[in-house]
Amino acid sequence: MKRQGLLLGGLAAMAVIPAIVWAQAPSPQRPGQGRSFAQWDKIEISVTAKLAPNLYILQGSPDLDMNHPDAAGGRVAVLFGPDGILMVDSQDEELHEKVLKTIRTFSSAPIRILVNSHIHSDHTGGNPFFAKQGALIFSREELRDEMLHPPRQGNGTPAPAPDPAGVPVMTYPLGTPGAPAVTIHLDGEVVDFIPVPASHTGGDTVIRFQHANAIYIGDFYRNFGYPFADQANGGSIRGMITAIDMIAKTAGPDTTLITGHGTLVKKADLLPYRAMVVDILAKTKKLVDQGKSLDDILAANLTAPYDATTKGDTPASKNRFITEAYNEVKDK
Ligand SMILES: [Zn+2]
Repeated sequence: MKRQGLLLGGLAAMAVIPAIVWAQAPSPQRPGQGRSFAQWDKIEISVTAKLAPNLYILQGSPDLDMNHPDAAGGRVAVLFGPDGILMVDSQDEELHEKVLKTIRTFSSAPIRILVNSHIHSDHTGGNPFFAKQGALIFSREELRDEMLHPPRQGNGTPAPAPDPAGVPVMTYPLGTPGAPAVTIHLDGEVVDFIPVPASHTGGDTVIRFQHANAIYIGDFYRNFGYPFADQANGGSIRGMITAIDMIAKTAGPDTTLITGHGTLVKKADLLPYRAMVVDILAKTKKLVDQGKSLDDILAANLTAPYDATTKGDTPASKNRFITEAYNEVKDK
C-alpha cells in the first residue's frame, strides 16, 4: 500500500502539467455543455446491478434524458473496498454530485482511480469533479488527444477547450488488440484496461473485472438505438465488427458485458448486432456502387428488417447509422 501511495503521489503531481497549459486557454468548456436535453434536477442515480459484493453498477432514471430515454446518461461501474474506489466513467457533468452521493450510500472509501471507456460527455462529464475528489484519470492516448483537440462544431467554429481538471493524466497506447494495457490490483479484484481498435470512437477501452467475470464494454455495442460510430472522434462502423470479435475472444460465455446504455448482455447477444452491421455495410456498398446518393440510400430504409427488434429505433438513430456506413463505404 505504501508503494502505491507514493506512486499515486508522483502521478498526482503530473496532473498539474495539463492544468498549467490550459490556464491560458479561453473559456474552458464544461464537458456536459451543449449536447443534451435532460431534466437534470429530476434525474436520480441508483444502483441498478450488483455484479459482485464489491462491484456495483450505477444508472440514471429513465425518461428524463432525450438522448438516453432508457436511463439518463451513461452507466458507471464502481469497484470498492478497503483499498479505495475505482470507477469506470463519470456520467454527465450535471449528475456528478448525485453519483458521488449514491456511491457514499455503500462506500466511504477514497476515490482513487477513474478510467474512461471513451470520450463522450455522458461518460467523462464528471471527470473534473472526481479528479478533485482524488481520482487519477486513466484513458487511451487517443482519448486524451480527442479531449485536448476537439473537432470543430457543426457550424465550423472551434470547439471550446475542455476543463483541464478532467483531462486524463495516465494514458496508454492501443498496443496489441485484446491485450491489457494496464492492470490494477485493488480490493481483491484484478482489473484490466484493454484498448479496443477504433469503433465507437478512436479511443475506446473495455474494462475487465477478472474475479467478477464482467467487462465494461462501453458503446460500440448498443441495444437501445442503432450503432453509433463517432467518426469525428476517430470512430468506425467497420471497427465495431473488430471490437465484437475481440470481445468474442476476451469474454467467456457467462461473462457479464456492461454496456454504456441499454441492458446488460452476454457475448452471444453481440452476434445478431454484428450480423446487422455486416449486412448494412454490404447493402450500403451495393447502392453506392450503383451510383446512389446518400439521400437515395437513406430513402431505401435499409434498417427496416431490424426495426421491430431494435428498441429506440428513431429516424435520427437510423439515419445517423446509415450515414456513417455510407461515409465508410464511399471512401473505399
Ligand atoms: Zn458514447
